[in-house]
Amino acid sequence: MDKNKQLDKIRGSLVGGAVGDALGYPVEFIGSYMGIKQKYGEHGITQLDTTQWWLPDGGKNSKAWVSDDTQMTLFTACGLLNAKSQGKAPKYAICEAYIEWLFTQIGWKSRRFSDCWIGHIPELNNRRAPGNTCITALQTIMNGKELFNNSKGCGGIMRTAPVALYGAVWRDKPENENPEGRISNINDVDILAADAAEITHQHPLGWLPSALETHVIYRLLQNDNPMVEDFKAYLEEGYETLEELYPKEKKALYELMTIIEKVLLLVDSKASDVENIEKIGEGWVAEETLAIAIYCTVKYFDNFEQAMIASVNHCGDSDSTGAVTGNILGAVVGYDAIPEFFKTDLELHDVILHVADDLWRGETTKYERNKR
Ligand SMILES: [Mg+2]
Repeated sequence: MDKNKQLDKIRGSLVGGAVGDALGYPVEFIGSYMGIKQKYGEHGITQLDTTQWWLPDGGKNSKAWVSDDTQMTLFTACGLLNAKSQGKAPKYAICEAYIEWLFTQIGWKSRRFSDCWIGHIPELNNRRAPGNTCITALQTIMNGKELFNNSKGCGGIMRTAPVALYGAVWRDKPENENPEGRISNINDVDILAADAAEITHQHPLGWLPSALETHVIYRLLQNDNPMVEDFKAYLEEGYETLEELYPKEKKALYELMTIIEKVLLLVDSKASDVENIEKIGEGWVAEETLAIAIYCTVKYFDNFEQAMIASVNHCGDSDSTGAVTGNILGAVVGYDAIPEFFKTDLELHDVILHVADDLWRGETTKYERNKR
């Protein structure tokens, strides 16, 4: 594996996810494709919308906002890096980082652990339509109570890609890894991604799709030039691995594989992307989010822009389906292949790149705003 290529893919996955999130965020709550077309034209939303967000002073923001999906993804990355530097179990450190995210959402600066430097970034101390399940679950944990829920919303899968990015780099360096945080093989990546989602989403379909997503991203990062057939093989391998890791979750895994098999048939259908995606679902639940992302990835494996456009132009949870598609396809094409116009207009672009580089290095480094 070419090391520069690996860095490019890690950046691609993190920035790609943010691009999909920012492209989908303005249309997440429009509720119909017809409504999206009425606002953005015949082809729906095809460019980042930098015009609709208004700053408190009445001036227009020149960047397209990311939503809670990207915010929480960055906190997952911080949690992983803290696990390594502080010798903590990764799941525990990720949970702490999510509590830090919660503080940014409820304005409790005085209660912060201050272990995540991104918590000081003003744009991240801003509510961007956070999921209720994430907020209430983390409040329960923060209050020292045991959490019981049966949510399979997509709040888990939209934030767990960094587990694959971290695992892919650090798998080969056990001598540098603390024993608690060691990731020695792909099973560790799958389990940690499942655990990270399960912190807030306890239905098996709330966390199994995360494990499958990170499994394929991890494999894509190990392949300099993956083909679409490789991607399909990684999906199959991921499914078989999860069957072995979670024998008690046969029913949920069967449901997950059923929807993915349906998607792989729909890719070859002559119907439009909007019609095909409607047959998959709306992406509010994690297995549908992953399924829509797989549809867009397979159909537009060599065309990041088209994949992004397809992933958000539907009546459902556009920012999350865009984010997961970007996380996966970004690990295929790499950062350099993401069109420049998506990067120029993306809020927090330099912060996201900084975090990607830290994941690659395996340590948190000092961030200076707009230094790039
Ligand atoms: Mg969102």
